[in-house]
Amino acid sequence: MEISPTRNLRRTKIIFTIGPATDSEEMLRSLIRDHYVDICRINMAHASHDYVRTIVKRVRKVSAEVGREIAVMMDVKGPEVRTGDVDAPIELQPGEIFDFTIKPSGDIEREEEIRSVAVNYAELVNDVEVGSVVLVDNGLIRLEVLEKRETLIRCKVIIAGELTSRRHINLPGVKVNLPALTKKDEGDTLVGIEAGVDFYALSFVREGNDLKILRKFLDDNNAPDARMIAKIEDQQAIRNLEEIVVECDALMVARGDLGIECPFETLPLIQRRAVKECIRQRTPVIIATHMLESMISNPMPTRAEVTDVANAVLEQADCVMLSGETTVGKYPVECVDALRKISKSVDTTGTKSDFASFVELTTDKQKLQHSAVTMANQFEAAAIICFTRTGSMAEGVAALRPQSSPIFAFTNSDTILKHLRINHGVIPFVADFDGEPASTVENAIKFLKSEGFIIGGEKIVVVSDILAADRVIDSVQLRQVD
Ligand code: PEP
Repeated sequence: MEISPTRNLRRTKIIFTIGPATDSEEMLRSLIRDHYVDICRINMAHASHDYVRTIVKRVRKVSAEVGREIAVMMDVKGPEVRTGDVDAPIELQPGEIFDFTIKPSGDIEREEEIRSVAVNYAELVNDVEVGSVVLVDNGLIRLEVLEKRETLIRCKVIIAGELTSRRHINLPGVKVNLPALTKKDEGDTLVGIEAGVDFYALSFVREGNDLKILRKFLDDNNAPDARMIAKIEDQQAIRNLEEIVVECDALMVARGDLGIECPFETLPLIQRRAVKECIRQRTPVIIATHMLESMISNPMPTRAEVTDVANAVLEQADCVMLSGETTVGKYPVECVDALRKISKSVDTTGTKSDFASFVELTTDKQKLQHSAVTMANQFEAAAIICFTRTGSMAEGVAALRPQSSPIFAFTNSDTILKHLRINHGVIPFVADFDGEPASTVENAIKFLKSEGFIIGGEKIVVVSDILAADRVIDSVQLRQVD
């Protein structure tokens, strides 16, 4: 028997962050049609509202043109502590005494010789302790708190660097008392809703309740279908991981901030725990940041990057994500291709995690999905084909991580098709569900055969409704392709 082309399909999905390197129509066409990206991420740390409107329209237009609809994710900033504006860059010196003030620098009595910058967080003085660490600009600059005063904290520079305007501040271990969804996030989300964004990634989620707040905002603003991604980026999120996974629709291991907020040597085990917990709870999980960082300026990944991506694939994360590599990098297409190559190579031959064996089977539907995956594994089926109105059937099958069978999911909803772009191993298509269940199945098989996804003689597993003596019942069928 010929080997079906499905045997070499990539199962790990690719998210790229859009920016000047990738936002032209031409580049989008190439990424969507020829390089098979799955989700376009817009980072609201940098994007304006007009940019969001333009990009969502452009992605939809190009997707329609090339006949492959991808999803759009808006990444909102969440509660973030930042420095204010500085007139000119401040070159901090090792050992220098430096103040962070909670009022604009003009309004504060200062000792002349001590330089300072304002911070957007009024509770700063209450929340940090003498001896705490303050990290600025993604951890590049490190200071230690020496003294607290009413309106400032006085610090000593441990690792020096250049401080420019509006730099991100990390306070490792500190519970920052800012709202989960800031006014800026609300404004950004409203623009996303108007533009038709599919996923909202909320930064610095600290507990399950943060997601309830976002959910309510989405529901109240006419976006009940939008999906929420929880970005875990600090120690509190790690402590509350299980409840966060319960509340979110997907989780992002945001390793950039996580590697600053937590000791970097703990990152690999945090990642593994997050992937395991997500798979256990049937929640898609994304591994983000620095996957191919060196490719921002080089056409080839480092060996360490290849191994890091391979590790995420072997853990069976749903997605890997690119940030700077595709926003400003010189080799965005090469980055996407590198992810595809590594994913295909490792996924089809490597020994993968057994995290899917921890999935709890509580409902009849879940048990049915498990039977389908067991059957597909035992028969080394060329495909699992499922039909799903809400997406949940395909998501449930994907959560069980079939060993080698790709999941072809047919849905009658364009929205669900886009949501399924995030799920491990799922290749979604839109189909008409109006006819008899049996003919919907036959049409799907015919379509997959005509596209070369399956070939005559191969075994496939079909999960669908069937009509049995006038009753619609769930079924799992083992079939051979004609
Ligand atoms: C991260 O910190 O890893 C991340 C993805 O978030 P951001 O890009 O907002 O820093």
